[in-house]
Amino acid sequence: MKIKGMIFLIMLMIFLFAVAGCSGETEMPANETEEKEVSSEEETVDKISVVATLFPQYDFARRIGGDNVEVIYLLPPGTEAHSYEPTPQDMVSLLNADVFLYTGEFMEPWSRNIVENLKEEGVLVVDLSQDIPLLTSEDHDHEHEGDDEHGEDEEAIDPHYWTDPNMAIIMVKSIGDALSQVDPGNIEQYKGEEAALIEDLILLDNDIREALSRTKSKTILSGGHFAFGYFARQYGLEHMSPYEGFSPNAEPTPQRITALIQTIEDTGANAIYHEELIDPKVAQVIVDETGAELLLLHGSHNISKEELDSGRTYIEIMYDNLENLKEGLGYE
Ligand SMILES: [Zn+2]
Repeated sequence: MKIKGMIFLIMLMIFLFAVAGCSGETEMPANETEEKEVSSEEETVDKISVVATLFPQYDFARRIGGDNVEVIYLLPPGTEAHSYEPTPQDMVSLLNADVFLYTGEFMEPWSRNIVENLKEEGVLVVDLSQDIPLLTSEDHDHEHEGDDEHGEDEEAIDPHYWTDPNMAIIMVKSIGDALSQVDPGNIEQYKGEEAALIEDLILLDNDIREALSRTKSKTILSGGHFAFGYFARQYGLEHMSPYEGFSPNAEPTPQRITALIQTIEDTGANAIYHEELIDPKVAQVIVDETGAELLLLHGSHNISKEELDSGRTYIEIMYDNLENLKEGLGYE
């Protein structure tokens, strides 16, 4: 690391500690943060070093990169992704990386403070939303008329594009291009794996489309923050969530919880979905009130330590989601 890099790192640590001081407690279990892949640095001498923020890009990069690439997963497994802030150790990994893959400034607002400096340090910075048409709350908040309180502009941008396999294909292309750019000697491998992964994602898309065209209900009733806006739009579904905006840190509104309960009672819907890695308190209230079944709709922001150790993939998570959607929406 150059002197300039060191100064930048020190400045950034000061900044991050200030931010951490303002945002109060974090929900990171101490034992899991310590087990992060710090050890990877010794092995990366002749490997390309990639740092990925959310699980989908971590999963895609490790498959496309294969043995030529060391992918460092920035999120501590098992934690809630929206409240993540990089630690000083994460910053060291970032400054030493060849490639940084992030979701975008709306999912990772902290990235705004570091991308320019990472570029100066020679890191190839890839904003995976660069080729994605981002949706706003206006685009898919149908059942929510007469309320314009979206607050800051950025809260109205839905960052969860990766839940649509068609957007995941665009991410995969960006990742394949980035690896080919920093390591052109292995371009055949990267482009070959990229093409194979895209084929799997096209198959996933077809399977979802086929199954969801045959469900009785077309409305996903979610007790969590709604990460499936892009997915719902792609497959012609409606959705309801008790949360404003796109982060689980906001409080759900009582009116929206009541509206969900009313919808279940009116329509005879038999399932409510909860999200991954968060205690489903709100969904449980609705289940207690209505007797609806509680099913998981995994947003794939992050995965648990056990899932990570077992080699679970984005595609497996999405197929499990499809099974739960078939069950909850009445597949026939
Ligand atoms: Zn989310």
